[in-house]
Amino acid sequence: MTSQMCQPTIIIELMYEHLAPRVTVTLPGGRVTEGRLHARRQDSGGQWWFEVSLPMPAADVRPIDGENYSHVPTERHGSPAWVLQALRHDTPKRRALVLHRAACWAAEGRLTPASDMEAIAFLRHGWATACDACKPAPEADAG
Ligand SMILES: [Zn+2]
Repeated sequence: MTSQMCQPTIIIELMYEHLAPRVTVTLPGGRVTEGRLHARRQDSGGQWWFEVSLPMPAADVRPIDGENYSHVPTERHGSPAWVLQALRHDTPKRRALVLHRAACWAAEGRLTPASDMEAIAFLRHGWATACDACKPAPEADAG
């Protein structure tokens, strides 16, 4: 099955995001903050470069023209845990939707937030199929 073939990539991405060890980073100006260390590289002159990620207030970050941000995981405080992605052939009479966890990297295009009840109902009625990447399980999560 294709979903089985995708598994290792997803596991690596989840590990990358959640298990990168913490480091302290000194910013220009001297402020020290905490980040995550993702990679180390030594250049030809012997100097080490570290690839780190830092949590920053959105006001300090600007998009760059031409970059695609549609795959960036997005988590809103208090927002529903699920989103429904409409496939190209989805119509109100014949639903063709994919249910994702809200932060799923594979969710793209026309997305609609869904409550636990909606997510369960859409799967149960066959109006939506569960994403192969994030494997949403609203019934298990809803308890
Ligand atoms: Zn997904």
